[in-house]
Amino acid sequence: MSVEKELALPAPAVTSSSSSPPSPLVLVVSGPSGSGKSTLVQRILELPGTMASVSCTTRPRRATEATGKCYDFVTEAQFDEMVRNGDFLEYARVFGKHSYGTPRKWLEESRKTGLDLVLEIDVQGALQVKKALPESVAIFILPPSREELERRLRSRGTDSEDEITRRLAKARAEISAFPSYDYCVLNEDVALAASEATAIVSALRCSTVRRQARVERLLASFGGKD
Ligand code: 5GP
Repeated sequence: MSVEKELALPAPAVTSSSSSPPSPLVLVVSGPSGSGKSTLVQRILELPGTMASVSCTTRPRRATEATGKCYDFVTEAQFDEMVRNGDFLEYARVFGKHSYGTPRKWLEESRKTGLDLVLEIDVQGALQVKKALPESVAIFILPPSREELERRLRSRGTDSEDEITRRLAKARAEISAFPSYDYCVLNEDVALAASEATAIVSALRCSTVRRQARVERLLASFGGKD
């Protein structure tokens, strides 16, 4: 009797062939302005094996931003040309003002290098990515309360009163989209939220289907499967 039979192991839940390893993860992170998503995205990007998607935007560069690091800043005409060429995995007009889009080239780069791709985009964009790539994983970052969100927006000191009102109204609409996301991280304590966000990535990487090739190599080192 084989050991598997002796141990009464159930039938394998994964396929027996490891010929094509799964594509790298596509991690989509959204959350209202002031939810702290950029900090949490940075923490995810500190994990080895990840890469950032750099969005294109038509909004003007802020004094604190260097070209190419946060965004590729493009003109309306350049953006429209990219839309016409089908260069974007997703794109949207955010706050009804400026256009933002995720160039497909980052997905290609991720597949070429095997690095997990991290997108920090708004809800409209996340829904488009989920539609185009149903296997992508969407993580929503939530503020602990409306009051705390408002306090954080005010403490940044960068937005006008109108802008704060608009961001709070948008936050409500965005939070309502939470059922479309696979995970929700509540950012009350940033260290805890960061450990939850990185734990999600670690757990995804440990899934049986992602570990299959590695386990098969391990089995082979035992002389192969029966
Ligand atoms: P900000 O201008 O403050 O950097 O970003 C405004 C909003 O645009 C944020 O919610 C941000 O996540 C979103 N955003 C940034 N890049 C993209 C993108 O490529 N696509 C979409 N749909 N939203 C984006």
